[in-house]
Amino acid sequence: MRQLLSGVAAARGCALGRARMRLPHRLEIEVSTIAADAVAAEIARFRAAVAEVRAEMRALRERLQGALASELGDFVDLHALLLDDPELLSGIDTLIRTGPYSADYALRLQRNRITAAFEEMDDAYLRSRIDDIDHIIERLHGALHNRKAALPGVSGDILITDNIAPAELAQLQAQGVVGVVTAAGSPLSHSTIMARSLHLPLVVGASQALLKARDGDVLLLDGGSGLVILEPDAADLRAHHARVTQVRQERRQLNRLRREPSRTLDGVDIKLWANAETRDDASEAHALGAAGIGLFRSEFLFLGRGELPDEETQFRAYRDVVLAMTGRMVTIRTLDLGADKAERSGLALRQEANPALGLRGVRLSLALAGMLRTQLRAIVRASGYGPVRVLIPMLSGIEELQAVRSSLDNAMRELRAEGREIAAKVPLGTMIEVPAAALALPSFLKLADFLAIGSNDLVQYLLAADRTNEALEALYTPLHPAVLRVLHDVTRTARRRGVPVTLCGEIAAEPAFAPLLLALGLDELSLHPSHLLEVRQAIRGCELTRLRADAPALLRARTRAGIERWLDAHRSAKH
Ligand code: PEP
Ligand code: MG
Repeated sequence: MRQLLSGVAAARGCALGRARMRLPHRLEIEVSTIAADAVAAEIARFRAAVAEVRAEMRALRERLQGALASELGDFVDLHALLLDDPELLSGIDTLIRTGPYSADYALRLQRNRITAAFEEMDDAYLRSRIDDIDHIIERLHGALHNRKAALPGVSGDILITDNIAPAELAQLQAQGVVGVVTAAGSPLSHSTIMARSLHLPLVVGASQALLKARDGDVLLLDGGSGLVILEPDAADLRAHHARVTQVRQERRQLNRLRREPSRTLDGVDIKLWANAETRDDASEAHALGAAGIGLFRSEFLFLGRGELPDEETQFRAYRDVVLAMTGRMVTIRTLDLGADKAERSGLALRQEANPALGLRGVRLSLALAGMLRTQLRAIVRASGYGPVRVLIPMLSGIEELQAVRSSLDNAMRELRAEGREIAAKVPLGTMIEVPAAALALPSFLKLADFLAIGSNDLVQYLLAADRTNEALEALYTPLHPAVLRVLHDVTRTARRRGVPVTLCGEIAAEPAFAPLLLALGLDELSLHPSHLLEVRQAIRGCELTRLRADAPALLRARTRAGIERWLDAHRSAKH
């Protein structure tokens, strides 16, 4: 029967396919028994999983470097010790034998038993150790299911899952999966950014999808509007076919702008850069006439491999992007990872209660000096093949900029001494995404060659609204007077000192916001190539002089409704 399961629009595109479910563990707790003669094999399977996790923990321990080794080493050791806990392991053997239960179900039962005992303890610290047990149980579960190997979904399927990691999306696309629906997730997460990059339609926050859909149901999704229809009827199918035709026509029209300048009606050129996560993004950006790569998110190179990429691997990836841009500037951002994503990169980091405010971005790079040195060497080596600049994420203090500057200088000196061909200068810029950096901007400007405003994080930190929390969707908005004030002030201060500023958050990709960004003084935007032509079209409908003259009215708006009224009055003629 037809049902509407809509969620939040994340990555555009329409898809029609068969539902393929990936249920989270909490929904997989059905009792699962095994035949009596399968007990020995099941115990062996469980023991193999324990051995695999032990090896993983050992490898993690060895990868810890620098200042973090002693502190985080204890944490990894604690988890390794839990694996030797006779209570945990022999209890599971017994459950497999007496049930006889499958190893997964025994694992789950044992987890519940142990955590029930912990929950009764008076000591809050001991109670908090449940997290450690869960961490190890999750790893064992992953090993039992060989989770690294297979992701569900074949050609023509639409995956329904609670959440999805960026690296998994690439694998899904390679398997022919035509769309993804997640129950949780946010339109600003890195998975969303990756899905756009892969042109894989994605709807997030469709909380009903996991409960209502079944494997094999037909599903229709529109990643541009967040619409998800289970068992669509004839009218839905007709609307879908009409939409696909319309999108094709719009694309054809937009394609005429590939070779046109991003010039306003009054003749001012706006620099449109591209955000890229892969080499393919760079090729697409080049074909669409992007000025260069304004943001290469290097963390995508680090995710899903289970180990840190070495200098050679990174160098080749950066060099290939540089070559794809044939002489146009490529801005490579140093690693922007935090504890939330670190595990998939092979880095062992302490779990943090609040990773967005934790050891992430440049803080992590400076804590792992060896890793930063490797990355800067790889980037500088790529500068021998075309213009490259380095961008620092999550900067909050001038000391961080000075420290990266000195590592960059060292890397350049070393590489020259080794006789490598590198650029005479590799400009160093900073992201402005932590409010402190925006407020202390004049002190940074002497040291920074350029700035990139990261509005995704800037909005999150200015408004204290988690960008990944669906419940805060209405609060998390760039259309807030404080956000506009900061964008305006940062742009004006930097321009006065002759320091170029790009805006590279997701608002740059929204054609409807182009008049607002131009009014605030921006003249360089960086956005995913899939939105580049639409934003170019919007810019070509803007009159810059009029917009800038009306900026004071925009800055006087006190409410979101007031800002929206201003936007309505200045809607670009081409949008
Ligand atoms: C931003 O914060 O706006 C940004 C571009 O960085 P990311 O989305 O990768 O955090
Ligand atoms: Mg950011």
